[in-house]
Amino acid sequence: QGVDFSNITELEVFQEGPARVDPIANFEDAGLHPAMLNNVKLAGYETPTPIQRYCLPAIKMCYDVVAVAQTGSGKTAAYLIPILNALMGKAKKLAAPRPNPAAFREGIDQAVRAEPLVVIVCPSRELAVQVFSEARKFCYRTMLRPCVIYGGGPVMEQRAQLQKGCDVLIASPGRLIDFMNNPHVLSLRRVRYMVVDEADEMLHDDWKQDWDTIMSGGEIEEGNVRYMLFSATFPKNCRDLAKNHLAETHVRLRVGRAG
Ligand code: ADP
Ligand code: MG
Repeated sequence: QGVDFSNITELEVFQEGPARVDPIANFEDAGLHPAMLNNVKLAGYETPTPIQRYCLPAIKMCYDVVAVAQTGSGKTAAYLIPILNALMGKAKKLAAPRPNPAAFREGIDQAVRAEPLVVIVCPSRELAVQVFSEARKFCYRTMLRPCVIYGGGPVMEQRAQLQKGCDVLIASPGRLIDFMNNPHVLSLRRVRYMVVDEADEMLHDDWKQDWDTIMSGGEIEEGNVRYMLFSATFPKNCRDLAKNHLAETHVRLRVGRAG
């Protein structure tokens, strides 16, 4: 694809707790499902970038991850590939309707609302659309259905899309909260992975409150969810977010530029 990763050579890996991640050298070593490996090849990816070499095994080992690496270093695939790969085996089982007494009492039809397994929160519409197009490539033949929602987009169309079924939800925070407030459209009770992309862009003053709303308002089952923070920089408010919401034994990866 003509992407030059040769300037990304210096990798400082900081790991907290008992985490010990051995980087992979090739996508073939990542233990990916054949369909996922095929999607990686179809995307034109031949070798993993430094952040991907560490992120794929770290996420596979079920750690929460903070990954800080410069723009263009392949962070999107670093979380999409291992998360989608982990879910594809479980897609059918997790997507099968489970009785939810509360929803039943309120007369909510669970068959027509979205109950995603992954939520990827993106600060801007541009990023959300970009991540969605990447997610579509990696969802091919996995049974996982990606969906994107963002402010300024057509609400009814996004709603209809959600109600067709969504396993992988890419969302801007505002629109995510809007839809979460409507239990007929969206529930986060099945979420297994919560990713914040471009976390440093997201952390304006209101974001703390948005994050609390997303965490508490979505019936998220804390113990069942892995949290991931991806960013180009790691300012104080990002560190606070990580401290407050990520598991104590999370893995922190930082990729630097050589020279
Ligand atoms: P970041 O989020 O770190 O800014 P992106 O995930 O947007 O970076 O990736 C930058 C570009 O590199 C995208 O066009 C993406 O498709 C491409 N890319 C990512 N990983 C690889 C890889 N392993 N091999 C080839 N191209 C890749
Ligand atoms: Mg990115």
